[in-house]
Amino acid sequence: MIQSVIVNDEAYQQMFKYVIEFANPERPYRQWREVIGWLVGKVEGETVTVIKAIPMTSGNSIFVEMSDYTIIPKIAEEAESINAVIVGWFHSHPSFGFFLSGVDIRTQRYQQSLFDNAIALVCDPTKITSIESGIHGYQVYMDEEHRGREYRELDILIETEAMYPDLLSKFLEEQGITRSFSDAISHEELSALYALEGITPPQLAALKAKQLLPSEQSARPVLEGEYIVSDLIKAKEDCYIQIRISNTGKGVAWSVDLNFNPGLDFKLFSMYPHRIIDQLNYETTIIETFKLKPVRKGELLLPRTIINYKLANEKRYYIVVPALTILAI
Ligand SMILES: [Zn+2]
Repeated sequence: MIQSVIVNDEAYQQMFKYVIEFANPERPYRQWREVIGWLVGKVEGETVTVIKAIPMTSGNSIFVEMSDYTIIPKIAEEAESINAVIVGWFHSHPSFGFFLSGVDIRTQRYQQSLFDNAIALVCDPTKITSIESGIHGYQVYMDEEHRGREYRELDILIETEAMYPDLLSKFLEEQGITRSFSDAISHEELSALYALEGITPPQLAALKAKQLLPSEQSARPVLEGEYIVSDLIKAKEDCYIQIRISNTGKGVAWSVDLNFNPGLDFKLFSMYPHRIIDQLNYETTIIETFKLKPVRKGELLLPRTIINYKLANEKRYYIVVPALTILAI
């Protein structure tokens, strides 16, 4: 089982130059695109070294799927010519952080079924800091034993002498971009992007129950859920409805599980109406965004939604997001 990934300087540059081409501060945020590509390198023991990143087409939304596998022989040939093999794939999550979405998990399962050691790299240039390279690596579990946890994160090392923010500035400059990422992103647009992939904003690193202090283990989470409707709702037009889940207690809630069913008054367009969040630490809030279309004008009902969660002792609880009547014009 692969434990760590080394990304060489060249592959790091190849990935980010490609990522930035389709998601940068000069491009309107709504037009940002995810990109996807293949990784070529070597496997030694439990370490994958990535020596080359080969771009593929960019997605036409932020939702990217690896659909063209007919290209594998050509990539394999290219790898062989530099005495390497296919070691997986990469894709970008421009501005929404490091995790594998449901689609990503399926893609990575397929990759690992083709190549045992395949890894998935996720790149987000907007998260780069002096201690954050902007790339995280993952493998999925292929057996049933790890139910509840579908993938694990790998240690990652970028082989570069330069500082990550300096490299990022250099990549941007090379494409004639002078603005920084922080100039470009608005909250509303981020919500819209989240809705398209049906994702949760990046969360805190997951703790294990036994890593908690005894006082934290006995502390209770206090979960609350509510609808947030900030858009003007128009009949038969796309809108975004959000559910905010907050933990205002002192304990941790595990496997927070939300099954959103929008009822008869709306059609649901989010990819993942069913979301599982690893854990919700104290004083954290997660906002889930769903893309809906009201079927008619007038008063419409968003039905109550149940949020399930577990405590450190594995006992299950639930809370209710109360139903909400909204007006569509
Ligand atoms: Zn993804």
